[in-house]
Amino acid sequence: MDMDIDVYTYLVRPDAATIWRNKEVVNRLSWYYKVMKKLRPPKYIIAKYIPVEEPDGSNLEIMFREHDRARDAFLKLYRDIESGGESIDGMERPKYSFLDLKIDIAREILKKCGLCEWNCNVNRWEGRKGVCGLDSYSYVGSAFLHFGEEAPLVPSGTIFFTGCSLKCVFCQNWDISQNPNAGVKVTPKELADIALELDERGAKNINYVGGNPDQDIHNVIESLRYMDVWIPLLWNSNMYMTLNALDILIDLIDIWLPDFKWWDEDHAFRYSRIKRYREVVTRNLKIVYDYGSDIIIRHLLMPNHIECCTYPILEWIAENTPDVLVNIMDQYRPEYKASYDERFKDIGRRINRDEVLKAYSYASKLNIVYEPIS
Ligand code: SF4
Ligand SMILES: [Zn+2]
Repeated sequence: MDMDIDVYTYLVRPDAATIWRNKEVVNRLSWYYKVMKKLRPPKYIIAKYIPVEEPDGSNLEIMFREHDRARDAFLKLYRDIESGGESIDGMERPKYSFLDLKIDIAREILKKCGLCEWNCNVNRWEGRKGVCGLDSYSYVGSAFLHFGEEAPLVPSGTIFFTGCSLKCVFCQNWDISQNPNAGVKVTPKELADIALELDERGAKNINYVGGNPDQDIHNVIESLRYMDVWIPLLWNSNMYMTLNALDILIDLIDIWLPDFKWWDEDHAFRYSRIKRYREVVTRNLKIVYDYGSDIIIRHLLMPNHIECCTYPILEWIAENTPDVLVNIMDQYRPEYKASYDERFKDIGRRINRDEVLKAYSYASKLNIVYEPIS
């Protein structure tokens, strides 16, 4: 006989229930909390109620202008709903909405792909592939109820996409992140069916992850057309997306779960084969934060990178995004190339107790809230 999912969650992750007694966590994730408790509709549903003039043609500049105009209306409705002054009950859905416009913009961007800062400029609709290795299709490596995420997220309805814009030599999910075809090809409708199934099985959120989900934005947001359930959407990303991609996503995501790995640009290049990492990630994090989004930042402690990367990252967070929750992660273990390649010997070990304590005490000194979820 199937066990009730709440009972099962309580048995395997009792902290997923008790975490909400922590006022600091409720305050910092207040929108997510309300949507998860089904007290408010998720943002993607609100976006379906904003009428937009259907663009005549496919000029991105004109489309984005219309998008900016629609955002004002969206934000007004969102804020009214958030405060409890307005509800979507009885409201009519327009023929063409803010969400529809976003779908059309994303489809357009894919013709010269600029979803992430590699800006490959390839036409993925014609089957061309850029650095992430993906054409216009999305491939799902797996999808399941995840009980290992941060306590406020458990159980998380996780959907793993293949492909990634980063090439981390220590990637734990390298089998899907570096092999774009390692999953099942899905249409937006099928993607929605997966999310709906996870919702039905008791997921607290739909968690788009990978690999990385940014290269699949066009399919994810189109899948929202086929969904109408009240469940928060979570974006679990390396944050290397472009401003255009972020512009499309930012209104639709109820909670963000970004990685912030490196501070030193040379280290980002050496271990993740990426340029301008810090520049792009700090830019995007700041935008998402200033928008008022709920965020849990994940920082993976790396052996021998506490002073050069962890400390300045924590300082940046304390100064620029002080109201986020931070997960300081100590579970690094050398995998993929870091487990056998002599060149990466310096990260070929686990993190030690001393490094963890140094990171924790530095975070405490900066008043960063990490304890409830680290
Ligand atoms: S998502 Fe990024 S890496 Fe992939 S094709 Fe587009 S710009 Fe290139
Ligand atoms: Zn470093």
